[in-house]
Amino acid sequence: MSSPAVSPRMLDELVAGVRAGDRTVIGRALTLVESSLPEHREQAQELLARLAPATGGARRIGVSGLPGAGKSTLIERLGTWLLDRGHRVAVLAVDPSSVRTGGSILGDKTRMTKLAQDERAFVRPTPSGGSLGGVARRTREAMLVLEAAGHDVVLVETVGVGQSEIAVAGMVDAFLVLLVAGAGDELQGIKRGILEAADLVAINKADEDRPRAERARRDFAAALRLLHAAGERWRPTVQLISARTGEGVPELWGTLEEHRRRLAASGDLETRRREQRRAWFWQEVDEGLREALRGNAEVAAQLAALEARVAAGEETPEAAARQLLSAFRS
Ligand code: GDP
Repeated sequence: MSSPAVSPRMLDELVAGVRAGDRTVIGRALTLVESSLPEHREQAQELLARLAPATGGARRIGVSGLPGAGKSTLIERLGTWLLDRGHRVAVLAVDPSSVRTGGSILGDKTRMTKLAQDERAFVRPTPSGGSLGGVARRTREAMLVLEAAGHDVVLVETVGVGQSEIAVAGMVDAFLVLLVAGAGDELQGIKRGILEAADLVAINKADEDRPRAERARRDFAAALRLLHAAGERWRPTVQLISARTGEGVPELWGTLEEHRRRLAASGDLETRRREQRRAWFWQEVDEGLREALRGNAEVAAQLAALEARVAAGEETPEAAARQLLSAFRS
């Protein structure tokens, strides 16, 4: 969005268009929340505040897995199945590679052609560039816009290779980890932190080698039992699916629904969302402080020299940090 400012009337139109599910307007609203220009940030906050009463009702589901695990095949399969059942589905992606390269391997419209073309669905490619924090913020805000537009299922896709799934786990109600049996990495290739964050695990491509998939299911079920105490209200499930044939996909949705029912009934859903909002707030505070620090002239004058002295071992990191912060405060 290169226009300088959104007038109050245009903001009214954005709000009304998003609420009406107008795809063109939704696209414009998403472009606004993705912009990092300061005046757009302000308008985006205004827009989100006005949309807020219409948000919060969707099922927010994270889908993580290594490249090739079958995430886009599953999302296309599950998404079209849900459309047939009257749901409206939105797909967003958090793609750490786009942070590094400016490109995007996720959320590419050609990867989910049926969903992307369906009027009742909305597939948004990863906004590229910026920090992971920036991408995560834009994904969260895009999620709210799409909820306000009437999508009752929001799927957030991420590649299971780094920090991004922790960011995604922190913005969804249910976190699904997609694995493939016999990729040579039965347990060791999957980061422990990702399994810890999982509410559901699905072993995909069960159509290829059923006994192997079954063995993987048992192995992961055992691994998850070690990670989660018996008394926990929800212990992650492990299911076999084939995104290609659709086998096990309705059952997977059944588990997601059961998870949601239990979370809602126990109050854990609201607790989880409260914690997520609180964590998001602190992330924004942290980022704002960092920006203010880096933008401060006194700090700028001292930063390079201090950093060099710390790196050379001439000054302790703590003493140097104190000095920098006192320059910032003065
Ligand atoms: P992503 O990188 O995780 O999004 O993986 P894709 O959805 O692009 O799938 C990677 C490859 O695995 C593609 O060639 C798919 O056709 C294939 N694939 C996905 N799901 C299945 C499945 O259930 N069974 C089989 N046999 N192949 C699958």
